[in-house]
Amino acid sequence: MKIAVLPGDGIGPEIVAQAVKVLEALRADGAKIEMETAPIGGAGYDAAGDPLPDATLRLARSADAVLLGAVGGPQYDTLDRPLRPERGLLRIRKELNLFANLRPALLYPELAGASSLKPDVVSGLDLMIVRELTGDVYFGQPRGIELRNGERVGYNTMLYSESEVRRVAHVAFGIAMKRGKKLCSVEKANVLECSELWKEVMIEVARDYPEVALSHMYVDNAAMQLIRAPKQFDTIVTGNIFGDILSDAASMLSGSIGMLPSASLDEHNKGMYEPIHGSAPDIAGKNLANPLATILSVAMMYRYTFADAATAERIENAVKRVIARGLRTGDIWTEGTQKVSCSEMGDAVVKAL
Ligand code: NAD
Repeated sequence: MKIAVLPGDGIGPEIVAQAVKVLEALRADGAKIEMETAPIGGAGYDAAGDPLPDATLRLARSADAVLLGAVGGPQYDTLDRPLRPERGLLRIRKELNLFANLRPALLYPELAGASSLKPDVVSGLDLMIVRELTGDVYFGQPRGIELRNGERVGYNTMLYSESEVRRVAHVAFGIAMKRGKKLCSVEKANVLECSELWKEVMIEVARDYPEVALSHMYVDNAAMQLIRAPKQFDTIVTGNIFGDILSDAASMLSGSIGMLPSASLDEHNKGMYEPIHGSAPDIAGKNLANPLATILSVAMMYRYTFADAATAERIENAVKRVIARGLRTGDIWTEGTQKVSCSEMGDAVVKAL
């Protein structure tokens, strides 16, 4: 298996180095993996004048999976938009056709105190949000701002084709099958035709997965239920804009942004794996960042692209053991636990592995 390693900017290189240690430990143990590193984001701009250099895109295309740190930094904020680091990220997702974004929100019982919700509401939370990533109102045409009757109007088009809904539905049902066999499709079918079609296609696809219990929820209610009683959900599938908002809300259920991995998959389960957080310029270069979201992204890579659930669990269990032993980076540290650096956390996971 060939992995393209794209550390990116800010804390990216520090956290990715810890995930690479985990991959190297697995390789020393017999895993057949090859890794090649390339710049993306601000690092891509610095190296080749492009946030997604051609060579990086070629490497990503040729790889089975991509491991990404994070991109962005204040020094790049004044560049022309097409040259900004975030553009590199959006382009690589689009170029690789990564239409299914998987974001687990998982809370380790020991970290329940770090959530802004009451511990009993979130303790033991294990939720997966599948967000469609390449369609919807973010990409629909027409779009624009123009003058109508003497005033400016802004407009976008919420648009999904059946085939776009169907392919993300299959991914979501497949994931629900491997989890609790409960899938909740979130839309706004009481108001939007686009959502009406979404719901109809979900019901059609459900016939292929008789073991999965499909339910439907309007997005406004889903936002409320996620905060009220998040443990009622197992797997959620939703469109691009609803998923954008709901998955950020769900990430806060679990305490720290430094704990949450993500995967973005194409039709053949090729994927890009990255923590959900950004490049954290405020702590970059200080060996303070939490590398666990990136290490857990490697676990997702094993589960979804390499179809090796045993190794995925091995990595996840190593992280659990390190948390249970009381090791904490600054973002998840509480009184009575042991504060460690980014690299010490990486070493501890490798040892636990
Ligand atoms: P951020 O996620 O980088 O940081 C938000 C806060 O969380 C900061 O206080 C940071 O120190 C903390 N934090 C984030 N990750 C952490 C970790 N692993 N361990 C400990 N603390 C962590 O978001 P931001 O500050 O809004 O954005 C900073 C830069 O990152 C911007 O340039 C933004 O465009 C970029 N960004 C990139 C991505 C990505 O690469 N996927 C995502 C979001 C933001």
